[in-house]
This record gives sequence, C-alpha cells and structure tokens, in this order.
Amino acid sequence: MARRRSKKKQMKIIKSVVAFVIVLILGLISWLTEPWQYIGGDDDKTEIGTKNEANISDLQVHYIDVGQADSILVRVPTEDGTENMLIDAGTSSGYSDEVITGYLSDLGIDTLTYMIITHPHLDHGGAAEEVIEAVDVENIILPECDASQAFWLGMFEAMDAKGLSYIPSEMGDTYQIGEASFTILGPVDVDNVKDTNDYSIVIRLDYGETSFVFTGDATVESEEQMLEKNPVSAFKCDVLKIGHHGSRTSTGEEFLAACDPDLAIISCGAGNSYGHPTEEVLDRLANANVPLLRTDLEGTIILASDKNEVYRLTND
Ligand SMILES: [Zn+2]
Repeated sequence: MARRRSKKKQMKIIKSVVAFVIVLILGLISWLTEPWQYIGGDDDKTEIGTKNEANISDLQVHYIDVGQADSILVRVPTEDGTENMLIDAGTSSGYSDEVITGYLSDLGIDTLTYMIITHPHLDHGGAAEEVIEAVDVENIILPECDASQAFWLGMFEAMDAKGLSYIPSEMGDTYQIGEASFTILGPVDVDNVKDTNDYSIVIRLDYGETSFVFTGDATVESEEQMLEKNPVSAFKCDVLKIGHHGSRTSTGEEFLAACDPDLAIISCGAGNSYGHPTEEVLDRLANANVPLLRTDLEGTIILASDKNEVYRLTND
C-alpha cells in the first residue's frame, strides 16, 4: 500500500516536472518568435529633469518660439565662451524676423559659427537674410536646390554683400563645434526630391553621451531613405525635434522607433490653420511613450546637456 502511494507520488512529481518543462519551452518559443516591437521603445525612459540655471560648461538647445515655424539655437561652451549654431530662421504670421535677431542680440550673440537653413520654405528661412545682416555668420550650410522665392534670393544677396558662400549639405558629413559634433543624416538624394520639404537637412548633434536629432520638415519618404542609408544607431537620440510641426506625413512609426527619444519637441504656432500637431503624430508619440513639449503651449523651450544627461531649463 505504502509503495503504491509513493509510486503515485513519484508519477505526480514527474507529471508536474514535464508540465513545467513544456510551459517553459512554449514560453521560450513564443518569446523567440515574437516580432521585434518597433513601437514602445524602452518603457523605462529617462525622465527629463529640470533646473533653474544651466551649468556654464553645459550645452544648450533653444527651441525658439517663432509661431508656426522653426528656429533652433544651439550654444556650445568653449574655453573662450560659447560657439553658436542656428538651425533654421523661420518667420510666420505674427512673428517677424526681429524675433530671431532680437533673441540673438538679447543673448549678446554677434557671431554664429554655423547657420543651417534646412529647406527653402519661409517658415524655416524667412529671417535668414536679416540674421546674416545682423551677425557674423562664419559657415552657412544649405541644401542644394533651385529655389526662387524672394526670401531665398534675399538670403543669397545678403551672403554676396558679405562675401559669404555656402556649404552644400552632404549626407554623412560631420562638423565639429566646440566639444560637440553634428552629422548630416539626410537628405539622401537631393537630385530626386519630389516634395520641397524633403530637401530638409536632418541633423544629429552629439555632446558627450547625449544627442539631439533635428528634422526640419522631412517627410516619411525622406525618413525611409535615411533609415535605409544610415545605421539605426545614427538615429537613437535623447531628444527628437518632430518633423514638419507635427504633420501626419512626418515622424513615421519606423523613424520614431529608430530615434526612440526620451523627449519630443514640436515647434508650431498656437491655433495654426494646418491643425499641427496632428492627432496621428500625437498618437504615435503616446503609443511609444514619448513625452512631448510644444512651443505653441510652452513658448521657447530651452534644454541643456552636461554630456551625460539632458535637462530642461525653467524660469521657476
Ligand atoms: Zn515648416
């Protein structure tokens, strides 16, 4: 009797072990075969902290409130002070070119080491001429394109008057500014651009371990080309400036997953007639758990980096 009972017990143990192993194998198979999750990124995103004052040795990125337009000032600390780069100088209704020249002069900036106008649209280059006239611009990077709008031609006249030429943007080119560097990720093929937005120069800025990606108005088509030509690691960043003011034709799921940012910034005007940012892009960001800051709600947004972490500068 006792023997039988112990045999029963043994069988029970064996059955449980077999069941456990089967569950384990099934779990392993489903884990191995599950498609790679593009959306969601890491759920454990680094919270962007805030500080009232930036350390003098920290890099700053100012997403200037220029309404339904883009203008981003990057300030890189150097031994002698600060080197400055302006990415876009856009104007929009209610925001004259003096918003940008005034912003630079308020900070005492009289020299830009680099000015990049991402593409020939007024909301990205409307104040380029005035900026060139107001400060010394040492290097100008532009997309190679045949644009004939008055503001674009005006920019070239201002360059001529100061004896300046420009560097045509080239995918893969890297530039040094202080201890930061930036790399051109796109456009990939300027000769076959169908949508003017796709001339947009897309830039990756690296400072220590931190990185920022700026996209101009590049559409999903340009994003797909860039993803094809660059390693996915080229896009992974802490902060992503969302393409085209949050238009649904930019910031595709694949591009967003490659960037996998801890924070997204949208530069757009309050109550703009384009409906930017669109529900689609807001949903994509929400699905990927990416926190968002918008210039239409916050005004100018200033971020800083100490090479290890990005934080937001606030006036509180
Ligand atoms: Zn734009």
